[in-house]
Amino acid sequence: MRTYQIGVMEGDGIGPEIVGETVKVLKAVQQSVDGLEIEFKYYPVGLSSFQSNGATLPEETVEGLKECDAGLLGPLTTHIYDTGNPNMINPSGALRKGFDLYANIRPTKTYEGVKTKFSDVDLVVVRENTEGMYADRNMHFNTGEFMPDPDTVLSFRVVTRKGSERLARVGFELAQGRKKKVTIVHKMNVLRKGCGLFYDSSLKVGKKYSDTVIDDYHIDAFAMHLIQRPEDFDVVVTTNMFGDILSDQAAGLVGGLGLAPGLNLGDSFLIAQATHGSAPDIAGRNIANPVAEILSAKMMLEWLGYRNGHQSAVHAASLIERAVEEAFKQKMMTTDLGGDLSTTEFGDKLVHFIQDSVIYEN
Ligand code: ATP
Repeated sequence: MRTYQIGVMEGDGIGPEIVGETVKVLKAVQQSVDGLEIEFKYYPVGLSSFQSNGATLPEETVEGLKECDAGLLGPLTTHIYDTGNPNMINPSGALRKGFDLYANIRPTKTYEGVKTKFSDVDLVVVRENTEGMYADRNMHFNTGEFMPDPDTVLSFRVVTRKGSERLARVGFELAQGRKKKVTIVHKMNVLRKGCGLFYDSSLKVGKKYSDTVIDDYHIDAFAMHLIQRPEDFDVVVTTNMFGDILSDQAAGLVGGLGLAPGLNLGDSFLIAQATHGSAPDIAGRNIANPVAEILSAKMMLEWLGYRNGHQSAVHAASLIERAVEEAFKQKMMTTDLGGDLSTTEFGDKLVHFIQDSVIYEN
Protein backbone atom coordinates (compact mmCIF):
# COMPACT_ATOMS: atom_id res chain seq x y z
CA MET A 1 0.00 0.00 0.00
CA ARG A 2 1.35 3.40 -0.95
CA THR A 3 -0.21 6.57 0.47
CA TYR A 4 0.01 9.77 -1.56
CA GLN A 5 -0.56 13.14 0.06
CA ILE A 6 -2.23 15.40 -2.49
CA GLY A 7 -2.46 19.14 -1.84
CA VAL A 8 -5.83 20.30 -3.15
CA MET A 9 -6.24 23.97 -4.14
CA GLU A 10 -9.65 24.81 -5.54
CA GLY A 11 -8.90 28.17 -7.14
CA ASP A 12 -11.31 30.73 -8.59
CA GLY A 13 -14.35 30.72 -10.90
CA ILE A 14 -15.26 27.17 -11.89
CA GLY A 15 -12.30 25.88 -9.84
CA PRO A 16 -14.24 24.58 -6.79
CA GLU A 17 -16.74 22.80 -9.07
CA ILE A 18 -14.24 20.99 -11.30
CA VAL A 19 -11.78 20.25 -8.49
CA GLY A 20 -14.70 18.87 -6.45
CA GLU A 21 -15.54 16.40 -9.23
CA THR A 22 -11.87 15.50 -9.61
CA VAL A 23 -11.56 14.62 -5.93
CA LYS A 24 -14.75 12.58 -6.25
CA VAL A 25 -13.23 10.58 -9.11
CA LEU A 26 -9.91 10.13 -7.29
CA LYS A 27 -11.79 8.79 -4.27
CA ALA A 28 -13.58 6.33 -6.55
CA VAL A 29 -10.36 4.95 -8.06
CA GLN A 30 -8.82 4.76 -4.62
CA GLN A 31 -11.68 2.49 -3.57
CA SER A 32 -11.44 0.37 -6.71
CA VAL A 33 -7.68 -0.14 -6.89
CA ASP A 34 -5.77 -2.23 -4.36
CA GLY A 35 -2.57 -0.74 -3.01
CA LEU A 36 -3.50 2.91 -3.55
CA GLU A 37 -4.29 5.33 -0.75
CA ILE A 38 -4.78 9.05 -1.27
CA GLU A 39 -4.94 11.65 1.49
CA PHE A 40 -6.39 14.99 0.45
CA LYS A 41 -5.05 18.10 2.17
CA TYR A 42 -6.92 21.28 1.31
CA TYR A 43 -4.95 24.52 1.00
CA PRO A 44 -6.25 28.01 0.23
CA VAL A 45 -5.36 29.86 -3.00
CA GLY A 46 -6.92 32.60 -5.08
CA LEU A 47 -9.57 35.20 -4.40
CA SER A 48 -11.28 33.38 -1.53
CA SER A 49 -7.88 32.98 0.11
CA PHE A 50 -7.18 36.68 -0.36
CA GLN A 51 -10.43 37.45 1.45
CA SER A 52 -9.89 35.04 4.33
CA ASN A 53 -6.08 34.91 4.62
CA GLY A 54 -5.03 38.22 3.08
CA ALA A 55 -3.04 36.56 0.27
CA THR A 56 -3.78 34.71 -2.97
CA LEU A 57 -0.94 32.32 -2.13
CA PRO A 58 -0.50 32.22 1.66
CA GLU A 59 2.60 30.78 3.30
CA GLU A 60 0.56 27.93 4.80
CA THR A 61 -0.22 26.68 1.27
CA VAL A 62 3.40 26.72 0.13
CA GLU A 63 4.61 25.06 3.36
CA GLY A 64 1.79 22.49 3.23
CA LEU A 65 2.59 21.55 -0.37
CA LYS A 66 6.20 20.87 0.62
CA GLU A 67 4.89 17.96 2.70
CA CYS A 68 2.82 16.57 -0.19
CA ASP A 69 3.65 14.21 -3.06
CA ALA A 70 1.80 16.34 -5.60
CA GLY A 71 -0.68 19.18 -5.96
CA LEU A 72 -4.07 19.48 -7.63
CA LEU A 73 -4.73 23.08 -8.62
CA GLY A 74 -7.88 24.68 -9.98
CA PRO A 75 -7.85 27.67 -12.38
CA LEU A 76 -7.37 31.24 -11.19
CA THR A 77 -8.94 34.52 -12.33
CA THR A 78 -5.57 36.27 -12.39
CA HIS A 79 -6.56 38.99 -14.84
CA ILE A 80 -8.50 40.74 -12.07
CA TYR A 81 -5.71 40.44 -9.50
CA ASP A 82 -4.07 43.75 -8.53
CA THR A 83 -0.50 43.19 -9.72
CA GLY A 84 0.68 46.12 -7.59
CA ASN A 85 -0.38 44.29 -4.43
CA PRO A 86 2.34 41.88 -3.21
CA ASN A 87 -0.35 39.75 -1.53
CA MET A 88 -2.13 39.24 -4.84
CA ILE A 89 0.44 37.29 -6.81
CA ASN A 90 -0.53 34.75 -9.46
CA PRO A 91 -0.40 31.44 -7.53
CA SER A 92 0.06 29.49 -10.75
CA GLY A 93 3.21 31.31 -11.78
CA ALA A 94 4.58 31.45 -8.24
CA LEU A 95 4.06 27.72 -7.65
CA ARG A 96 5.60 26.79 -11.01
CA LYS A 97 8.62 28.96 -10.29
CA GLY A 98 8.86 28.18 -6.56
CA PHE A 99 8.69 24.40 -6.99
CA ASP A 100 10.73 24.56 -10.22
CA LEU A 101 7.97 22.90 -12.25
CA TYR A 102 9.77 23.64 -15.49
CA ALA A 103 7.76 21.52 -17.92
CA ASN A 104 4.09 22.07 -18.63
CA ILE A 105 2.78 18.96 -20.35
CA ARG A 106 -0.46 19.55 -22.22
CA PRO A 107 -1.86 16.66 -24.26
CA THR A 108 -4.60 16.91 -26.87
CA LYS A 109 -6.45 13.97 -28.34
CA THR A 110 -9.70 13.12 -30.05
CA TYR A 111 -12.23 11.00 -28.19
CA GLU A 112 -14.76 8.74 -29.88
CA GLY A 113 -18.20 10.27 -29.39
CA VAL A 114 -17.00 13.89 -29.21
CA LYS A 115 -17.78 15.82 -32.39
CA THR A 116 -14.66 17.36 -33.94
CA LYS A 117 -13.33 18.32 -37.33
CA PHE A 118 -10.39 15.93 -36.93
CA SER A 119 -10.71 12.27 -36.06
CA ASP A 120 -7.17 11.21 -35.23
CA VAL A 121 -5.39 13.87 -33.20
CA ASP A 122 -3.00 12.70 -30.49
CA LEU A 123 -0.29 15.19 -29.68
CA VAL A 124 1.26 16.77 -26.64
CA VAL A 125 2.62 20.28 -26.20
CA VAL A 126 5.60 20.40 -23.84
CA ARG A 127 5.86 24.01 -22.81
CA GLU A 128 8.68 25.70 -20.87
CA ASN A 129 7.08 26.86 -17.65
CA THR A 130 9.46 29.01 -15.62
CA GLU A 131 10.97 31.65 -17.90
CA GLY A 132 10.22 33.02 -21.42
CA MET A 133 7.95 36.07 -21.74
CA TYR A 134 6.04 35.45 -18.52
CA ALA A 135 6.97 38.45 -16.44
CA ASP A 136 5.53 37.07 -13.20
CA ARG A 137 8.17 34.32 -13.06
CA ASN A 138 11.11 35.20 -15.28
CA MET A 139 13.03 37.36 -12.79
CA HIS A 140 14.63 36.41 -9.47
CA PHE A 141 13.28 39.61 -7.92
CA ASN A 142 10.20 41.52 -9.09
CA THR A 143 8.66 41.12 -12.52
CA GLY A 144 10.06 41.16 -16.04
CA GLU A 145 8.05 44.23 -17.04
CA PHE A 146 9.41 47.72 -16.55
CA MET A 147 8.07 51.22 -17.19
CA PRO A 148 10.83 53.74 -17.86
CA ASP A 149 8.11 56.37 -18.38
CA PRO A 150 4.29 56.29 -18.15
CA ASP A 151 3.92 55.61 -21.88
CA THR A 152 6.54 52.93 -22.36
CA VAL A 153 6.66 49.30 -21.23
CA LEU A 154 9.65 47.02 -21.58
CA SER A 155 8.84 43.31 -21.32
CA PHE A 156 11.81 40.98 -20.94
CA ARG A 157 11.96 37.47 -22.32
CA VAL A 158 14.29 35.00 -20.66
CA VAL A 159 15.68 31.90 -22.39
CA THR A 160 18.42 29.85 -20.73
CA ARG A 161 20.42 26.87 -21.91
CA LYS A 162 19.57 24.97 -18.73
CA GLY A 163 15.84 25.73 -19.02
CA SER A 164 15.77 24.77 -22.70
CA GLU A 165 17.77 21.55 -22.33
CA ARG A 166 15.80 20.18 -19.42
CA LEU A 167 12.52 21.01 -21.15
CA ALA A 168 13.68 19.28 -24.32
CA ARG A 169 14.72 16.23 -22.29
CA VAL A 170 11.14 15.88 -20.99
CA GLY A 171 9.82 16.15 -24.55
CA PHE A 172 12.21 13.57 -25.99
CA GLU A 173 11.64 11.16 -23.10
CA LEU A 174 7.89 11.49 -23.57
CA ALA A 175 8.26 10.80 -27.30
CA GLN A 176 9.94 7.45 -26.50
CA GLY A 177 6.62 6.06 -25.26
CA ARG A 178 4.73 7.60 -28.19
CA LYS A 179 5.37 7.99 -31.93
CA LYS A 180 9.00 9.09 -31.45
CA LYS A 181 8.58 12.36 -33.24
CA VAL A 182 9.53 15.74 -31.76
CA THR A 183 8.73 19.09 -33.33
CA ILE A 184 10.67 22.12 -32.08
CA VAL A 185 8.65 25.33 -32.40
CA HIS A 186 10.43 28.70 -32.30
CA LYS A 187 10.76 32.06 -34.03
CA MET A 188 14.44 31.87 -34.80
CA ASN A 189 14.26 34.08 -37.87
CA VAL A 190 13.44 37.11 -35.68
CA LEU A 191 14.40 36.17 -32.13
CA ARG A 192 17.79 34.96 -33.31
CA LYS A 193 19.46 34.70 -29.93
CA GLY A 194 16.62 33.59 -27.62
CA CYS A 195 14.88 31.19 -29.97
CA GLY A 196 18.27 30.26 -31.42
CA LEU A 197 19.43 29.11 -27.99
CA PHE A 198 16.19 27.20 -27.43
CA TYR A 199 16.52 25.48 -30.81
CA ASP A 200 20.21 24.60 -30.43
CA SER A 201 19.64 23.26 -26.91
CA SER A 202 16.70 21.13 -28.04
CA LEU A 203 18.66 19.76 -30.97
CA LYS A 204 21.63 18.94 -28.77
CA VAL A 205 19.37 16.93 -26.43
CA GLY A 206 17.64 15.34 -29.43
CA LYS A 207 20.93 13.96 -30.81
CA LYS A 208 20.93 11.46 -27.95
CA TYR A 209 17.65 10.00 -29.24
CA SER A 210 18.82 8.66 -32.59
CA ASP A 211 15.59 6.82 -33.40
CA THR A 212 13.44 9.93 -32.90
CA VAL A 213 12.39 12.04 -35.89
CA ILE A 214 13.01 15.74 -35.27
CA ASP A 215 11.61 18.64 -37.24
CA ASP A 216 11.08 22.32 -36.51
CA TYR A 217 8.88 25.25 -37.51
CA HIS A 218 8.57 28.95 -36.96
CA ILE A 219 5.63 29.53 -34.61
CA ASP A 220 3.53 31.34 -37.22
CA ALA A 221 3.89 28.60 -39.84
CA PHE A 222 3.35 25.94 -37.19
CA ALA A 223 0.07 27.59 -36.12
CA MET A 224 -1.15 27.03 -39.67
CA HIS A 225 0.11 23.44 -39.94
CA LEU A 226 -1.50 22.62 -36.60
CA ILE A 227 -4.88 23.67 -37.97
CA GLN A 228 -4.41 21.96 -41.34
CA ARG A 229 -2.89 18.61 -40.35
CA PRO A 230 -2.82 18.14 -36.56
CA GLU A 231 -2.67 14.35 -37.01
CA ASP A 232 0.94 14.64 -38.19
CA PHE A 233 2.31 15.88 -34.87
CA ASP A 234 3.36 13.94 -31.80
CA VAL A 235 5.43 15.86 -29.23
CA VAL A 236 5.84 19.63 -29.63
CA VAL A 237 8.53 21.34 -27.54
CA THR A 238 8.41 25.10 -27.29
CA THR A 239 8.93 28.16 -25.13
CA ASN A 240 6.49 29.44 -22.52
CA MET A 241 4.17 31.81 -24.38
CA PHE A 242 4.16 29.90 -27.68
CA GLY A 243 3.25 26.74 -25.76
CA ASP A 244 0.47 28.48 -23.85
CA ILE A 245 -1.16 29.67 -27.06
CA LEU A 246 -0.60 26.48 -29.06
CA SER A 247 -2.08 24.27 -26.35
CA ASP A 248 -5.33 26.29 -26.35
CA GLN A 249 -5.36 26.13 -30.15
CA ALA A 250 -4.80 22.38 -30.05
CA ALA A 251 -7.66 22.03 -27.54
CA GLY A 252 -9.93 23.78 -30.01
CA LEU A 253 -9.20 21.05 -32.56
CA VAL A 254 -10.67 18.27 -30.44
CA GLY A 255 -13.68 19.82 -28.72
CA GLY A 256 -12.48 22.77 -26.67
CA LEU A 257 -10.82 23.81 -23.45
CA GLY A 258 -13.03 21.62 -21.29
CA LEU A 259 -11.08 18.65 -22.65
CA ALA A 260 -7.54 19.97 -22.21
CA PRO A 261 -5.58 18.60 -19.25
CA GLY A 262 -2.15 19.68 -18.05
CA LEU A 263 0.63 18.74 -15.68
CA ASN A 264 3.27 21.06 -14.24
CA LEU A 265 6.30 18.84 -13.85
CA GLY A 266 9.57 19.29 -11.99
CA ASP A 267 12.24 16.83 -10.92
CA SER A 268 10.83 16.38 -7.42
CA PHE A 269 7.27 17.72 -7.46
CA LEU A 270 4.31 18.04 -9.79
CA ILE A 271 1.01 19.88 -9.91
CA ALA A 272 -1.99 18.79 -11.95
CA GLN A 273 -3.84 21.73 -13.48
CA ALA A 274 -6.18 21.97 -16.47
CA THR A 275 -5.06 24.09 -19.41
CA HIS A 276 -8.11 26.33 -19.26
CA GLY A 277 -8.75 29.39 -17.11
CA SER A 278 -11.37 29.98 -14.45
CA ALA A 279 -14.22 30.66 -16.93
CA PRO A 280 -15.99 33.22 -14.69
CA ASP A 281 -18.82 33.44 -17.26
CA ILE A 282 -20.06 29.97 -16.31
CA ALA A 283 -18.91 29.75 -12.68
CA GLY A 284 -21.35 28.56 -10.03
CA ARG A 285 -23.88 27.17 -12.53
CA ASN A 286 -22.90 23.49 -12.40
CA ILE A 287 -22.29 23.43 -16.17
CA ALA A 288 -18.48 23.51 -16.39
CA ASN A 289 -16.78 20.53 -17.95
CA PRO A 290 -14.62 18.84 -15.29
CA VAL A 291 -12.84 16.52 -17.75
CA ALA A 292 -9.70 18.64 -18.22
CA GLU A 293 -9.10 18.78 -14.46
CA ILE A 294 -9.96 15.08 -14.03
CA LEU A 295 -7.56 14.07 -16.81
CA SER A 296 -4.91 16.31 -15.24
CA ALA A 297 -5.29 14.27 -12.06
CA LYS A 298 -5.04 11.13 -14.17
CA MET A 299 -1.68 12.40 -15.49
CA MET A 300 -0.63 13.14 -11.91
CA LEU A 301 -1.30 9.53 -10.86
CA GLU A 302 0.48 8.22 -13.94
CA TRP A 303 3.64 10.21 -13.23
CA LEU A 304 3.55 9.42 -9.51
CA GLY A 305 3.23 5.76 -10.46
CA TYR A 306 6.10 5.80 -12.96
CA ARG A 307 8.40 7.74 -10.69
CA ASN A 308 7.74 5.56 -7.68
CA GLY A 309 7.57 2.27 -9.59
CA HIS A 310 4.01 1.94 -8.29
CA GLN A 311 1.77 -0.02 -10.63
CA SER A 312 -1.44 0.67 -8.67
CA ALA A 313 -1.18 4.39 -9.37
CA VAL A 314 -0.59 3.76 -13.08
CA HIS A 315 -3.56 1.39 -13.12
CA ALA A 316 -5.75 3.96 -11.34
CA ALA A 317 -4.79 6.50 -14.00
CA SER A 318 -5.82 4.16 -16.79
CA LEU A 319 -9.15 3.49 -15.04
CA ILE A 320 -9.90 7.22 -15.07
CA GLU A 321 -9.06 7.53 -18.75
CA ARG A 322 -11.20 4.53 -19.65
CA ALA A 323 -14.13 5.89 -17.65
CA VAL A 324 -13.91 9.16 -19.61
CA GLU A 325 -13.68 7.27 -22.91
CA GLU A 326 -16.69 5.15 -22.00
CA ALA A 327 -18.77 8.16 -21.01
CA PHE A 328 -18.01 9.91 -24.30
CA LYS A 329 -18.72 6.76 -26.32
CA GLN A 330 -22.16 6.68 -24.67
CA LYS A 331 -22.60 10.38 -25.50
CA MET A 332 -22.54 11.33 -21.85
CA MET A 333 -20.99 14.78 -21.70
CA THR A 334 -21.46 18.34 -20.51
CA THR A 335 -23.13 21.04 -22.58
CA ASP A 336 -19.88 22.57 -23.94
CA LEU A 337 -19.41 19.30 -25.87
CA GLY A 338 -23.03 19.12 -26.99
CA GLY A 339 -24.28 16.91 -24.15
CA ASP A 340 -26.87 17.59 -21.46
CA LEU A 341 -25.13 16.57 -18.25
CA SER A 342 -24.28 18.97 -15.46
CA THR A 343 -20.80 19.06 -13.92
CA THR A 344 -21.85 16.87 -10.99
CA GLU A 345 -23.90 14.48 -13.12
CA PHE A 346 -20.90 13.89 -15.35
CA GLY A 347 -18.68 13.26 -12.32
CA ASP A 348 -21.26 10.78 -11.00
CA LYS A 349 -21.23 8.89 -14.32
CA LEU A 350 -17.45 8.51 -14.14
CA VAL A 351 -17.70 7.25 -10.56
CA HIS A 352 -20.33 4.77 -11.70
CA PHE A 353 -18.10 3.47 -14.51
CA ILE A 354 -15.14 3.17 -12.16
CA GLN A 355 -17.01 1.58 -9.24
CA ASP A 356 -19.17 -0.83 -11.21
CA SER A 357 -16.26 -1.68 -13.49
CA VAL A 358 -18.58 -1.20 -16.45
CA ILE A 359 -15.46 -0.37 -18.44
CA TYR A 360 -14.14 -3.90 -17.99
CA GLU A 361 -17.18 -5.44 -19.63
CA ASN A 362 -16.76 -3.72 -22.98
P1 ATP B 1 -6.74 32.11 -18.75
O1 ATP B 1 -5.95 33.20 -19.40
O2 ATP B 1 -6.88 32.24 -17.29
O3 ATP B 1 -6.31 30.73 -19.21
P2 ATP B 1 -8.75 32.36 -20.76
O4 ATP B 1 -8.88 33.76 -21.19
O5 ATP B 1 -7.91 31.41 -21.59
O6 ATP B 1 -8.24 32.28 -19.26
P3 ATP B 1 -10.77 30.52 -20.01
O7 ATP B 1 -11.27 30.86 -18.67
O8 ATP B 1 -9.80 29.41 -20.13
O9 ATP B 1 -10.21 31.83 -20.69
O10 ATP B 1 -12.00 30.13 -20.89
C1 ATP B 1 -12.43 30.71 -22.10
C2 ATP B 1 -13.88 30.25 -22.30
O11 ATP B 1 -13.88 28.84 -22.55
C3 ATP B 1 -14.69 30.44 -21.04
O12 ATP B 1 -15.27 31.70 -21.03
C4 ATP B 1 -15.70 29.32 -21.09
O13 ATP B 1 -16.84 29.73 -21.77
C5 ATP B 1 -14.96 28.23 -21.85
N1 ATP B 1 -14.41 27.23 -20.92
C6 ATP B 1 -13.19 27.19 -20.36
N2 ATP B 1 -13.05 26.14 -19.55
C7 ATP B 1 -14.22 25.47 -19.60
C8 ATP B 1 -14.72 24.29 -18.97
N3 ATP B 1 -13.98 23.55 -18.13
N4 ATP B 1 -15.98 23.91 -19.24
C9 ATP B 1 -16.74 24.60 -20.09
N5 ATP B 1 -16.33 25.71 -20.71
C10 ATP B 1 -15.08 26.16 -20.48
